[in-house]
Amino acid sequence: MSHRISHLFALVILTLTIVCLSVWAAAQQATKPKPEETEIWTPVPPVVTPGATDADPPSDAIILFDGKNLDEWVSAQDHTPARWFVSDGVMTVNKEHGVGNIETKRRFKNYQLHIEWRVPPDITGSGQARGNSGVFLASTGPGDDGYELQVLDSYQNETYVNGMAGSLYKQSIPLANAARKPGEWQTYNVIWTAPTFDADGSLKTPAYATVFWDGVLVENHFQLKGQTLYIGKPFYKAYYDAPIKLQAHGDPSQAISFRNIWVRELP
Ligand code: MG
Repeated sequence: MSHRISHLFALVILTLTIVCLSVWAAAQQATKPKPEETEIWTPVPPVVTPGATDADPPSDAIILFDGKNLDEWVSAQDHTPARWFVSDGVMTVNKEHGVGNIETKRRFKNYQLHIEWRVPPDITGSGQARGNSGVFLASTGPGDDGYELQVLDSYQNETYVNGMAGSLYKQSIPLANAARKPGEWQTYNVIWTAPTFDADGSLKTPAYATVFWDGVLVENHFQLKGQTLYIGKPFYKAYYDAPIKLQAHGDPSQAISFRNIWVRELP
């Protein structure tokens, strides 16, 4: 092979190499992920104006109690007007015989709930008989039917831990005891995921509760085993939507108070 031909050959090889590299680079460029590919622009979340503080209701909240009246509440027993006491912006359990639990007129599925409660400063009794009340996250009947988030004086008050404040009654032990002293206001912020049921009434998806007690996470997406029961093993009973219920417990200790109750419905 002459010098000239071998030079020409080398040139052809070089040219081919450059062409191949360019094509490869272009292909690389074309398949390289772009940031835009993972950017989602719709649906745009609705604007919700927050409250003045995180305890105040956002603009889309349903106000269940703002300190004025019990218009959003009825007797859980017979759905007559609620007969608990309202004064100084606070509602207080009426422990008089025959009054009983109260529940919302409205019915809910999934939601975010804010509720504040106070054990009276002069509370007496011990264990479950010391400031016992409860927030039934779904009321599935009169009395104590439903799913109870326990309210109790748990400040230096020993009881079974799956029945202390912050527990889903007799199902969960709260992750911490965030109790404030009697006389001080305490807060529950709850995310409730309602159970769902098939047409034949069998459980499709269980209920979950996430609870912040005085800002402390005490229930982290806890999966309920069914309705909360005083005696026996929990079980599910089919329902579609349900009121939120507050408990008038039969113990003889001084009555619990509630204030600033609001809820945001969730998909
Ligand atoms: Mg209770």
